[in-house]
Order: sequence, then structure tokens, then C-alpha cells
Amino acid sequence: MADIQTMSTPATVFDLFAGLESTNHEQIVFCQDNATGLKAIIAIHNTVLGPGLGGTRMWSYANEKDAVRDALRLSRGMTYKASVAGLNLGGAKAVIIGDAKTAKSEALMRKFGRFVENLNGKYITAEDVGTTTRDMEYVNMETDHVVGLPEMMGGGGDPSPVTAFGTYMGIKASAKKAWGSDSLSGKSVAVQGIGKVGMHLLEHLKKEGASIYVADINEQALIEAAAMGAIPVSGDDMYELDVDVFAPCALGAILNGNTIPRLKCQVVAGAANNQLEDEKVHGDMLKAKGIVYAPDFVINAGGLINVYSEYNGYVREQAMAQAENIYKTILDIYSLADAQQVNNQQAAIKLAEKRINDMMHVHSTF
Ligand code: NAD
Repeated sequence: MADIQTMSTPATVFDLFAGLESTNHEQIVFCQDNATGLKAIIAIHNTVLGPGLGGTRMWSYANEKDAVRDALRLSRGMTYKASVAGLNLGGAKAVIIGDAKTAKSEALMRKFGRFVENLNGKYITAEDVGTTTRDMEYVNMETDHVVGLPEMMGGGGDPSPVTAFGTYMGIKASAKKAWGSDSLSGKSVAVQGIGKVGMHLLEHLKKEGASIYVADINEQALIEAAAMGAIPVSGDDMYELDVDVFAPCALGAILNGNTIPRLKCQVVAGAANNQLEDEKVHGDMLKAKGIVYAPDFVINAGGLINVYSEYNGYVREQAMAQAENIYKTILDIYSLADAQQVNNQQAAIKLAEKRINDMMHVHSTF
């Protein structure tokens, strides 16, 4: 072990506690292991409603500050997502610093699992960008505090069908707000991204008689969608389509100063995470344009609902039934936004915070 006198000072020191204070985080755990090369940060934002659940992202961050910032931002998002979905879960997230293609190993994932285990259930992990179900199997060798496992291991398997169903419910609720009826029959819907969620969403939309436009960078996905009756359009044209609904199901930050002015739709409702480049600026821009925007972390909560269901013995029908509630939650958010004259994203955050504050009171006595 290096002599403490000869250890170098970290190259960058930043005001970590000020950051934690501003976002009101409960705990940050730095996990370090020389033998496996593990460098991970577990950020636990809020556990008023229950243990903090959030996936583990593995990414080559440009620097450590970016990694901490990502962990803080994503864990806070998980608190809001769980709260507004009515789950007894708090918000947390882990990031592993490193290249998911080259730096990953069984030992690294299992060492990470040991750190998760040491938190005694205060943090529950799952897969995320850069980690896979296989990685979670390794984590599971060291801790039970992991969800999103394959069905054969008692998990819920692929959450995408539940996410897609919740998204479909959110689109219907948004249609109700925009046109007074939640029927999508005869409505036109443009889906950006025909991946795991987008493809399932297509099935629901088709069944209801919507006309569907699709864009994807994957040619094969477009061919499959066209075989289901969808009309492929080229990437950037998606924003200017004269359609009723735009459903982003691919990338984040696609609602911004460049795209919003081009939108002709009356509803934006899709599964992609972090759709607004800036929550306040672009949430307000959509509101000013009279577009009904379904807050992403509300409409795409089906995935979280699915993994949460694993805790009570997984039954897909139960997860689906809970995802159906997204319809009512979205309508509640639209009412709150109207009443308080805020954009829909802000209303969703207010609703999430209200439930946390209410439950804090419930838990104030033994
Ligand atoms: P996926 O990777 O299976 O699908 C994404 C699709 O988007 C792919 O077909 C990809 O080719 C396409 N795409 C990528 N860049 C594109 C571009 N520039 N233009 C058009 N298409 C593009 O992912 P998924 O699981 O279907 O998730 C979709 C979105 O929903 C993501 O933002 C994800 O974070 C979010 N989400 C997914 C779940 C879930 O259960 N899978 C849950 C919550 C949120």
C-alpha cells in the first residue's frame, strides 16, 4: 500500500457536497478496486418511499466529474419516476467508469456486486446502457439486490412490452386531452425508433387503426415495420410530418430549439428517456406551441414497473395492469399543469415530490 505521505492529490477537486446539497442526495458510494480495475459510483438520491432502484451504466466518461454528474442526474430522475408511478421505491443509480466493450470482466461485475451487497438493500441495481442481463447474473452471484434478471432466473425478462403498453396508454391519455377522445382510430402517429419498445408500440397502434409513420437508422427495422403496414420516412423529415402524434422512442434531447419549431403535431408522447434538451426552456416551448407533451419519465415507467414486480414474485399480467395506470397519472399531470400554469414536465415533478412529502409524513411516526 502506498505511503500516505507519498500519495498524490487528485488532479481535480470539486465541490462535491455543495452539489449533493443542491440536489438533496442522501448518499454517494465510491467503489474502487485495483485488482479488477473497478471504479464505480453509486448515487442514492432519496429513499423515503423505499430502497433506491436504478440501473448500472458503464461508460467511458471523459473525466470523473462527468461520471459523478451523470450518477447524480440519473439517480434523481429515478426518484421522480418511481414516485409518480406509485411504486414504493426510491431513486438511485450506479455508474461504472470504463469501456463496456474492453474493460468488463466477470470479476469486475462480481466485485461491483459485493459493493451493492454491502449497502444491505438500500440500493437495488439492474442493467442499463453498457451492461447486460449476463452482467447482472454475475452481480447476482454476490448479492440478491438486483432485478431485471432473465425469466429462467425468476426475473421479469425483457421489460419492453410493458414499457410499450404504458407508452400506448400515455398516448391515449394525451389524445383525450388534445381531442376529447382517447381513440387513436384514424389518427396519424410518427414513431421515431423501431427498437424493442417501438416495435411493440406499433402493434398496439396498428390494432387500434392508427396510420403509422416510422423512422430508424436500422434498415432491417424499417423493413419489419413496413411489413406491419407502417410508412417509412427518412430521419430528419420526422419532425416536419403533418401528423397528430409524434412518439420519440429512440434518443434523448430530441426536443430542442431546432426541432420544436418544426413540429406540426398536437401531441408528443413516446418512450425515449430525457427527451427535453432543457426541461424548463423546451417544456415551456412545447406548452407555448399548444402541444400536449407527455413527460417521458411518466409515460415510460413500464420498465421500472416491470422490474419492481419481480420483488413480489413476477407476474406479467400484474405488471401490465400497473402500467395501465399510466393513463390516469398522465391525465392528473395535465390537470395539475393547467391548474398551476406550469409545463407538463414541471407538473410531473411536482406530483412526484408531493407523494414523497406525503409519505415522509406517514413515516414520521413508528
Ligand atoms: P432499442 O435500442 O431497442 O431501440 C432504439 C431504436 O432507435 C433502434 O432501432 C435504433 O436503431 C433507433 N435509433 C437510434 N438512433 C436513431 C436515430 N437517430 N433516428 C431514428 N432511430 C434511431 O431501445 P429500446 O429499448 O426500444 O428503448 C427506446 C427508448 O426508450 C430509449 O430512449 C430507452 O432509454 C427508452 N426506454 C426503454 C425502456 C425499455 O423497457 N426498453 C424503458 C424505459 C425507457
